[in-house]
Amino acid sequence: MNEKLNNYLNEIHPNEHNWINELEIQAKNENVPIMDRVGINFVMQLTRTSKPEKILEIGTAIGYSALRMVEACPDCSIVTIEKDAERYKQAILNISIQNKQDQIKVILGDALDKLMELSAQKHKFDLIFIDAAKGQYQRFFDLAEPMLNKNGMIITDNVLFRGYVADPEAVPKRYKKMVEKIRNYNTMLMNHPNYKTSIVPVGDGVAVSLKLT
Ligand code: SAH
Ligand code: MG
Repeated sequence: MNEKLNNYLNEIHPNEHNWINELEIQAKNENVPIMDRVGINFVMQLTRTSKPEKILEIGTAIGYSALRMVEACPDCSIVTIEKDAERYKQAILNISIQNKQDQIKVILGDALDKLMELSAQKHKFDLIFIDAAKGQYQRFFDLAEPMLNKNGMIITDNVLFRGYVADPEAVPKRYKKMVEKIRNYNTMLMNHPNYKTSIVPVGDGVAVSLKLT
């Protein structure tokens, strides 16, 4: 997105609680790539309108997006997966400070393993938020998607990755493979027979996919 537009939108989004500012600062100081205000506000709005009971998140980081989603649906429950032990610990702490530990269950481990376990335990979800290693999106989707209820929603973050996804010529060499994977992922989403997808250039690019059958 145009930088001025993005700055403007980020500036006009107020934070209603001080803990939100504190987590944003914590993420900034520790270089944790949480969603920006405009992006998370969009995810929260989707959460309010779709009213999920059960949410699955892939990529907890420090618990910011999970806490914000609970803010948007006070009665829902979230299962969220994080593979980094330090971030996992920080998430557990942040979630317990907000007293949301009964609503948000954080699982430590690689989502590729943990999704298989959740699936074997026959878990079902109404909303799936994919926000972890971008090179693995297709695998996360394949493992998580069967657990989504009919009419459920999959939100995928970073699908336009810094604009590189739309500008292959400009991609630095170290990102080439990953960008190629995201492009394939987006094409898969747009052509999936069971989903209707809308990709929006908010934050780092958000795909919203609705499961039709
Ligand atoms: N959703 C968070 C930000 C997540 S950042 C928010 O907006 O607040 C992405 C996180 O995914 C990182 O903390 C990273 O450690 C984690 N991650 C990356 N690959 C993963 C995997 N295979 N399994 C579980 N977590 C993973
Ligand atoms: Mg992200």
